Amino acid sequence: MGTIVCQTCNSTIDYFEDEKVSVLYAKCGCSCDQNDKTEK
Ligand SMILES: [Zn+2]
Repeated sequence: MGTIVCQTCNSTIDYFEDEKVSVLYAKCGCSCDQNDKTEK
């Protein structure tokens, strides 16, 4: 089974059927990528 992981917050978004175990990266629609830009 494959796993779709958010590339920004690294949380599991969804699963998909696959013969081998694999990981796909996508965006879950969260605003975690905005949080990545921390003010200094
Ligand atoms: Zn995310």
